[in-house]
Amino acid sequence: MAIDSHMHINSLLLENKEKYISAINNNYLIESVINVGLDLKSSEESITISKANHKFFSSVGIHPLYIESQNLSDLYNLAINPKVIAIGEIGLDSTKSNFEVQKKYLIEQIIIANEVHLPVIIHSNNSNKLVIDIFEKYVKPKYGCVFHCFQPDLEDLKYLVKNDFYISFAGRITYKNAKKSIEVANIVPDDLFLVETDSPYISPEPLREKINETANIKYIINKLAEIKQRDYDEIEQITRENAKSLFKKIK
Ligand SMILES: [Zn+2]
Repeated sequence: MAIDSHMHINSLLLENKEKYISAINNNYLIESVINVGLDLKSSEESITISKANHKFFSSVGIHPLYIESQNLSDLYNLAINPKVIAIGEIGLDSTKSNFEVQKKYLIEQIIIANEVHLPVIIHSNNSNKLVIDIFEKYVKPKYGCVFHCFQPDLEDLKYLVKNDFYISFAGRITYKNAKKSIEVANIVPDDLFLVETDSPYISPEPLREKINETANIKYIINKLAEIKQRDYDEIEQITRENAKSLFKKIK
């Protein structure tokens, strides 16, 4: 069984959330999913769904593109819920220029994660080096970290491996131009990688025109098995165990 380490059932793209929730509940190939918040509202909704569905776990946080008027003390209250297993997604995104505010939110949210003993899920859009810089100059996650949908760079990978931080592969690894991701997949240590769909976004090949869903995690596992010349079951097991060792509250 697989763990989808990053998805968004609260996305506005999904009109009939109940349909997607029961598809996951009824899919015997899926052990659990991490439903990731983008702001306080979606984080709160994620907790409500996790309380009612045992396969669902929540990550709460404020994404760098959603930081307007969000109160971080409210996030602290959400973070202590038993089904909240991480803080995220948090990070930096180069498509907006409010870098100083993004940086402040990232720092404050890592501090909260360290206080409540949770790992962080990092969103980095063309900003790996800047995020790493914040870890070194301001505050480093103490309870683990994953760069979700990792934008491949060998130097950044070296830093993450040295710190026992994880990277996560999403649908992009199945794309034709994924040469650098394949290079990263070949050298990432067995104990430091996860898989995710980031659904309903970034659908894998051969479903790129469709709305992405957790069942498609099999295409990502399959691609990694092909690249690493391993069995499908082995990659599924490795990524499931890695998810549980990073997100310790997943049972
Ligand atoms: Zn995401």
